[in-house]
Amino acid sequence: MEKITFKDLNLKPEILRAIEDLGFEYPSQIQAEAIPLAIEGHDLIAQAQTGTGKTAAFGCSLLNNLVKTGNVGAIVLAPTRELAIQVYEDLNKLSKYEKITVLPFYGGDSIQKQLRELKRGVDVVVGTPGRILDLIRRKALLLGNAQFLVLDEADEMLNMGFIEDIEEVIKQLPKERQTMLFSATMPPQIQKLAKRYMKPDPKIVAIKKVSMTVSTITQGFFEVNQRNKFEALCRVLDYDTPNAAIIFCRTKKGVDELVEGLQARNYVAEGMHGDMSQLHRMRTLKRFKEGSLSFLIATDVAARGIDVEGITHVINYDITQDVESYVHRVGRTGRANRKGTAYSFITPREQSMLRQIRNVTKGIITKMPIPTVEQILESKFTSKTDEIEKVLIEGDFSKYTKLADEICVNYAPVDVVAAMMKMQFDKEMSFNYTHDQMESPAPTRDFRDNRDSRDRDSRSSRDRFSRDSRDRDNRDRDARDSRDRDKDNIDDVRLFFSIGKRDDLTTKNLVDYITEKANIEGHKVTKIDILESFSFVTVSNDVSDAVLDNCSGNKINNRRVNVEVATKRR
Ligand code: AMP
Repeated sequence: MEKITFKDLNLKPEILRAIEDLGFEYPSQIQAEAIPLAIEGHDLIAQAQTGTGKTAAFGCSLLNNLVKTGNVGAIVLAPTRELAIQVYEDLNKLSKYEKITVLPFYGGDSIQKQLRELKRGVDVVVGTPGRILDLIRRKALLLGNAQFLVLDEADEMLNMGFIEDIEEVIKQLPKERQTMLFSATMPPQIQKLAKRYMKPDPKIVAIKKVSMTVSTITQGFFEVNQRNKFEALCRVLDYDTPNAAIIFCRTKKGVDELVEGLQARNYVAEGMHGDMSQLHRMRTLKRFKEGSLSFLIATDVAARGIDVEGITHVINYDITQDVESYVHRVGRTGRANRKGTAYSFITPREQSMLRQIRNVTKGIITKMPIPTVEQILESKFTSKTDEIEKVLIEGDFSKYTKLADEICVNYAPVDVVAAMMKMQFDKEMSFNYTHDQMESPAPTRDFRDNRDSRDRDSRSSRDRFSRDSRDRDNRDRDARDSRDRDKDNIDDVRLFFSIGKRDDLTTKNLVDYITEKANIEGHKVTKIDILESFSFVTVSNDVSDAVLDNCSGNKINNRRVNVEVATKRR
């Protein structure tokens, strides 16, 4: 049978576009079943847990059918502020091509701000029952024209004692509305609630098999070729800045090579496999547990029995060979109901394993783009901006305001802030590295989970930042220059080599290495630019694949070298 696509679900083009931007390939089971019923206008009872794609299931449906009236058109009730924010963010992304205002309302946020927002007009309200009721009582939130009610994680809301609040909110809504109730379990109380407040013939959808992986784990995969896998991993690490990650390799040799590669790029990484002494393994594990080691590279066998709290990321550098091992690996994160992230690097020939894992676990594993250098850099700046905002909101900085006032008499505040940022970033960039270029940056996703933990390994990520930015600037400039030089000859390919003067590389060294490894004639290698920590070489098109295939991963002057097509700027 043909697999259902989002296009088959009769959704508006604006929503389909937003879904495409999110990178969702196919509807999850709950989406495929619930969306058609919901957009036909039925009330819906859905038994589904977090991690099944339930938010987009009700999100797409209500955004698809919502009629803008100038009043609140839909209300989503969620048990916690975290979930309310998450739902709001998801709906916001899904409605990005429409003029629909979605906003979150939860306790702990400024009520004055929320009152102002409601006055300006909101189409979709997402909130926790207590705060929503408060806003209703203040007559700031009027629900008399709402077309949709969604109760998300209804069982949780009942467990938390929100039943009376919920009933009171429901009483404000018109009878002629569409109600969708999502719950992981269906205890009698929920059934009673449904009976009392839903139309008599609600449609029922149940996702029978709960995902085998923990619902707090976000799972994603990156499509890579064997050749660019290492670079892709570095970008992901730089973008996400995991606090503590286990990175799995299939073989002991794979572990050794990856450790070597990562250490050469100044990542705080250590390996663990069966050929290492027990003492060495125990020491490594201790460092990992204490937080002085960010990345533990391991084989399945060596990692067996490791139970470390606070692992933020599980990374399948090599995908597993069976589904059970996948579930086992991924379960190292998301312990004790904490959030976790599991990434897999998938080469074309590993696609079928990915399909099997998806089928058996029923978990959503989202395809993710490999972060670009620009994105990585932006994420670094964003985290700095977040820190500044945090101080602005929470910090007591009044003792500096006099000084700030004095400076701002003579200079524009924006220049003052920019100068201070320069001081800060330049300082961070002054760390001394023994190695090397780092070329690309980073992925998607919600970084809130990582933020708290950034502090612990901020030094290491700062270190990388300094090194990366410095080298990246040079490299981007050189790539641009070299492209300009090359643009008259489209039969040539400009290649980047991750090794340079500081590795004692000479032109002869490099040409000898390329001609020997790729088995090509010397005259096919031209325009050799050896820079401080990397180099550029132009080769003719007909030999470029041979160079890429044979020169990456080997050593020149005892340094392992990575070869790629030189970065093009936008
Ligand atoms: P939820 O169950 O709504 O909490 O969703 C779990 C995760 O799956 C979220 O990170 C969503 O962005 C993601 N997601 C939802 N639907 C899909 C889909 N059809 N394909 C891939 N990822 C999805």
